[in-house]
Amino acid sequence: MRILVVEDEKKIAKFIERGLKAHRYTVDIAYHGENGLRMAEANPYDLIILDIMLPGKDGITVCKELREKKIDSPIMMLTAKSSVSDKVLALQIGADDYLVKPFSFEEFTARIAALLRRTRSDKTSLLKAGDILLDQMTHKVTKADQEIFLTPKEYSLLEYFMLNADQVVTRTMISEHVWNEDFDSFSNIIDVFINNLRAKLEPDRKKELIKTIRGVGYVLKGKFK
Ligand code: CA
Repeated sequence: MRILVVEDEKKIAKFIERGLKAHRYTVDIAYHGENGLRMAEANPYDLIILDIMLPGKDGITVCKELREKKIDSPIMMLTAKSSVSDKVLALQIGADDYLVKPFSFEEFTARIAALLRRTRSDKTSLLKAGDILLDQMTHKVTKADQEIFLTPKEYSLLEYFMLNADQVVTRTMISEHVWNEDFDSFSNIIDVFINNLRAKLEPDRKKELIKTIRGVGYVLKGKFK
């Protein structure tokens, strides 16, 4: 899942980015309010982390403008102040959660996972497709109880397929949710990763777990057997 971090303090932004990447999230960073707003309008982020004190445009204004533009990605505000009025204001203008700096990374990632689950109906961190299980908390993937070892990117791709099981997933959707701004749309990198996933999940290619829909995209079968 792809997260936008809007935070002007480079040290904090890098710290957040490193931590999120370790948790298999795809991350883009904006150091400026206006920039963050532009990026959030251009890409369908699964979550936006928004600092309040920002150059260009403050986080409250950015959040307000995003909601006015009907961009409904979950938003978590970061605030250095612990004043009640700041928190109330953040929630009033459409943020979904807030965190007071400094915060522990444990609490931060737990809140992010909760926010990302909130939009889903099942609310569980254990995804299932056939005999494949993916645990979003531990990042462990098993198939018929055998652990499958995936690279972080392969994991993110499988997670995206499993969150959208039995639905057609286009290459654009994959590039928008699994890759960040550095994605090169002229490369065949998505095909390479899908082939790697297929090789690891279905080495004998008996069931064709990830089906190619020619000219459209792919479908991961959620229910089989
Ligand atoms: Ca700041």
